Amino acid sequence: MNEFIEAKVALQWQQPKAAYDVVIVGGGGHGLATAYYLATRHGITNVGVFERSYIGGGNSGRNTTVIRANYGIPEAVRFYQRSLELFASLEDETDRWIMHNQKGLLWMTHTEHGMRAEKARAAVNTAFGAKTRYVEPEEIKEICPQIDLSGGGKFPVLGASYHEEGATARHDRVVWALAEGAMHRGVHVHQRAPVTGLLRDGDRVTGIETPDGPVSAGVVVSAVGGHVTTLASMAGLRLPIRSHPLQAFVTNHYAQAFDAIAASTDLLFYMSQTARGEMLLGAEIDRQPSYSYRSGHHFLESCAHRAMTLFPFLRDLRILRQWTGICDMSPDYSPIMGKTGVDGFLVTTGWGTWGFKAIPVGGEQMAQLIATDKTPELIAPFSLDRFARDRTLADRGSAGTH
Ligand SMILES: Cc1cc2nc3c(=O)[nH]c(=O)nc-3n(C[C@H](O)[C@H](O)[C@H](O)COP(=O)(O)OP(=O)(O)OC[C@H]3O[C@@H](n4cnc5c(N)ncnc54)[C@H](O)[C@@H]3O)c2cc1C
Repeated sequence: MNEFIEAKVALQWQQPKAAYDVVIVGGGGHGLATAYYLATRHGITNVGVFERSYIGGGNSGRNTTVIRANYGIPEAVRFYQRSLELFASLEDETDRWIMHNQKGLLWMTHTEHGMRAEKARAAVNTAFGAKTRYVEPEEIKEICPQIDLSGGGKFPVLGASYHEEGATARHDRVVWALAEGAMHRGVHVHQRAPVTGLLRDGDRVTGIETPDGPVSAGVVVSAVGGHVTTLASMAGLRLPIRSHPLQAFVTNHYAQAFDAIAASTDLLFYMSQTARGEMLLGAEIDRQPSYSYRSGHHFLESCAHRAMTLFPFLRDLRILRQWTGICDMSPDYSPIMGKTGVDGFLVTTGWGTWGFKAIPVGGEQMAQLIATDKTPELIAPFSLDRFARDRTLADRGSAGTH
């Protein structure tokens, strides 16, 4: 429990009912946002969220908190830009301090090919509503004075796309603000409540199994992060998802202010400063798919080495702690949202290494789908059947972790 929870959250915890209109499996950001928007936008409050651990205990409380819309394809730019807007007003809307902080994101490159890619990113972002422009090394140094533009003589910084609206927000505050907002309107959130099976009537999913007994539901939504293939298989559904660990670490306090979020496409790391002054770093996923939460020295060594190439000041800091989350990676690096072909069973998945920023828009759109039974235009391209229709949304270069 942090001070936010202790001081501000006085919640009513209910026993599970025998039936809900909507059951959401997974109390991470996406599950809770779906519940929050069902309650606030559609007045649907007969909703039960079942979380096997504690809310935010999955990736939503383990991420590096970067919020951005600088994606590489129009569908994604529009989608994440909507999330930026919702994030910017979430603090006022929920009356909770989520520590939303617009910092600007520098996405640096060290090759001719990378320069072309970042110029293209700026163009597609501008065309579809995100504020991104290409900047030269002199401006990069102004935005981020700590950078060694020579890249240690090996990786000279040639330019960057600069995404002005890039931001961070405190992850556990986001999930608790959504949980609190939903619960105050009557939604039931159950912690330590694992879903162990799905109830089925023929091909239709009609509810869930829990250790305390069955719970029936008009609709079951899977929002279980990296564990989605297990749950989907209970509905007889095979998803194109692989679960990979992703690690991160923070250093001890860095005395100077480091205002921007810095990322390098070629060196493959990204970094920002937390409100406590720690430097927070992440890099690519572990190559081997697994459900292992173990974090390792190899990641620390390789990520720190690459980051120090551009930011030599890191050499004087110490690593304070590291951790891991399990990411639901889709083949095209885009989310999978909506209907599944199994009646009564919806998914919000494929959030991989990029789903924190999408929590508000993901919840908003899933709630609209449930309330209206119509797939909203914003998420129609992200439907599961795109793989069968050969309409994948390849955007690997925007993951930030590839
Ligand atoms: C190290 C790291 C850094 C990241 N950095 C960023 C970033 O900077 N920006 C960004 O946008 N994204 C980032 N991400 C990705 C982001 O955190 C996730 O995509 C996002 O949090 C997914 O939210 P979710 O609600 O889908 O899943 P989760 O938050 O993982 O929630 C799923 C929940 O389901 C529960 N659950 C699982 N199985 C069951 C079951 N059978 N019954 C009941 N409950 C169950 C789990 O306990 C969990 O709490 C990062 C991820 C990691 C690991």
